[in-house]
Amino acid sequence: MISGRQIYKAYGTVQVLKGVNIDINKGEVVSIVGPSGSGKSTLLHILGTLDKPDAGSVTMNNIAISSLTGKQLAAFRNRNIGFVFQFHHLLPEFSALENVCIPAWLAGRRKKEVTERARELLAVLGVDHRLDNKPNELSGGEQQRVAVARALINQPQIVFADEPTGNLDTANARELHDLFFSLRERFLQTFLIVTHNEELAAISDRTLHMKDGLIV
Ligand code: ADP
Ligand code: MG
Repeated sequence: MISGRQIYKAYGTVQVLKGVNIDINKGEVVSIVGPSGSGKSTLLHILGTLDKPDAGSVTMNNIAISSLTGKQLAAFRNRNIGFVFQFHHLLPEFSALENVCIPAWLAGRRKKEVTERARELLAVLGVDHRLDNKPNELSGGEQQRVAVARALINQPQIVFADEPTGNLDTANARELHDLFFSLRERFLQTFLIVTHNEELAAISDRTLHMKDGLIV
């Protein structure tokens, strides 16, 4: 479903990615583990079109997405790619429900159908009792579940998560893992997750080990 071929990336004189090849199939939950500084976040950003490779290509369903630019790229990303980060990055002045709806409003979708899907997602994720609360009124686990709902609102092809449980305690981390797998069962949702969490790596379909700019 998504493939990276011979991906290279340098920041200044530091060669961060050194010819990475990667293939993720639809419906897989794949983890990436590896030491700090090995290039995991850089790879995720490039696969997710947030950053461009110096050389190499990224294709999604055989479309070359690493060559999209400008408005075309922004629209493609918003519709097809979901992101979850270590810190939730919810907008503080909007309610949980509004935070989830915003990417769909940006995609120009109708308000009523968007609100219905957002409510459904928040129910699946177990935070539908918090629809009208602002992010700072939610617990860490609830904030991260709202961020997952926001990542899913446009029914993306793939969700990239960069240390999504890095800021959660063990119980909340486990709940988030369970959610990823239940979303895979329910929507055949694909996930690529950078993690230091050994439990998550152990239950993933595959675990990719990064070292020094390569998947080893
Ligand atoms: P990881 O996620 O595995 O910890 P990163 O992909 O974040 O690794 O970083 C890999 C290397 O690239 C590190 O040495 C980091 O300092 C460097 N790096 C990452 N992003 C940038 C950037 N925007 N500018 C300069 N250096 C960066
Ligand atoms: Mg990182």
